[in-house]
Amino acid sequence: MKVDWLIVGAGYTGAVLAERIASQLGQKVLVVERRNHIAGNAYDYYDEHGVLVHKYGPHIFHTNSKKVFDHLSRFTEWRPYYHRVRAVIEGKEIPLPFSLASLRALFSERLADKLEEKLIAHCGYGARVPILKLKEIEDPDLRFLADYVYKNVFESYTLKQWGLRPEELSPTVTARVPVLVSYDTRYFQDTYQAMPKEGYTALFRRMLAHPNIKVLLGADWKEVEEEIKFDRLIFTGPMDEFFDYLHGPLPYRSLRFRLESHPGPWFQDVGTVNYPNEHPYTRVTEFKHLTGQAYLPHTVLCYEYPEAYEPKKNEPYYPVPREENEERYRLYLREAEKLETVLFAGRLGDYRYYNMDQAVARALKLFEELAHG
Ligand code: FAD
Ligand code: UDP
Repeated sequence: MKVDWLIVGAGYTGAVLAERIASQLGQKVLVVERRNHIAGNAYDYYDEHGVLVHKYGPHIFHTNSKKVFDHLSRFTEWRPYYHRVRAVIEGKEIPLPFSLASLRALFSERLADKLEEKLIAHCGYGARVPILKLKEIEDPDLRFLADYVYKNVFESYTLKQWGLRPEELSPTVTARVPVLVSYDTRYFQDTYQAMPKEGYTALFRRMLAHPNIKVLLGADWKEVEEEIKFDRLIFTGPMDEFFDYLHGPLPYRSLRFRLESHPGPWFQDVGTVNYPNEHPYTRVTEFKHLTGQAYLPHTVLCYEYPEAYEPKKNEPYYPVPREENEERYRLYLREAEKLETVLFAGRLGDYRYYNMDQAVARALKLFEELAHG
């Protein structure tokens, strides 16, 4: 078999690039995926009760990029959805990200009034303040608040999720969930927030339906490398694995997902409840909130248990953003630059903590580069 492009991985990165190359350049693409399904970590399926389940944990689409939203809109209709998250703190369920509404849920009116006034005075109404930045403010009341939020929301959750303290990770990690100086109780503040009406897998099926694209499932690319002739390769799997761990393994964090099916219609009031300070799991998501299947008599919950990554035993879900890992990644990047016919991209190929929209944006940009020289 001869193709123009071999693409390894049928997640966002691989699928977006395959579709662009097939439809815009008119070239033949083979996508090789070692799992038995398309859509990468965004894969979803209907269980025996008709509940749409996200196999690799809850995926909520949000972006500020019109370009990304418009691109994906070619392959799906959308259902508007604002994700709401609560955290259990000292026995109370408070809104996350931590906001002025969370202050009110936790503290007396007097204390909440004082902290709200100080937060607005120091940061401005509407500000999004990373917890590690809030901790730097000298004011004693805000210092109390920052210590409280750090200790009750971030410290134990981060230790559970990463096996590391917030300061041992890039500050961008905890900055994903900033303190909000507002009453916005949505988990994300992006311009576009929606779920694909028929799910992610249906979106991917349409994206990969082009006659110039063939998809081979259940095959590691190493198994087919010898049998397929191709001009260029795009690799969206782990970069260290591609180079046989030449510079040592790049650290990843893994998760175990436990699904629970309940006969009742609902289990919790919001899409996700976080448990920073109790239980071995970090959060519980009830898919029906995300997918809009309110009419179903059954409900499915997903519990996420963080664990160490072990190649061939579990999945490398999260690159671990910290300087020493970035240094090792740069060694691999230098190897990659020596290969003229191989491109790397994606959450694993770039070793970047991308959200779905960032993976799409990266793939679209790479396509523009390769299409226009
Ligand atoms: P992937 O989806 O990982 O796809 C890579 C594919 O390559 C995989 O299917 C893999 O099997 C395949 N592959 C790897 N190596 C080989 C090989 N050697 N041979 C053949 N195939 C191979 N993003 C959001 O925007 N919102 C969310 O709510 C959200 N929630 C998330 C929750 C969890 C628990 C996780 C882990 C991620 C979440 N994300 C979320 C991030 C999202 O999953 C990623 O941004 C996206 O999947 C990246 O796409 P990708 O194609 O780069 O990688
Ligand atoms: N985080 C936390 N407590 C929470 C929620 C998030 O400490 O209740 C921190 C934690 O370090 C986490 C990071 O913020 O890994 C990013 O959270 P997000 O919800 O974006 O993680 P993801 O959905 O990617 O797992």
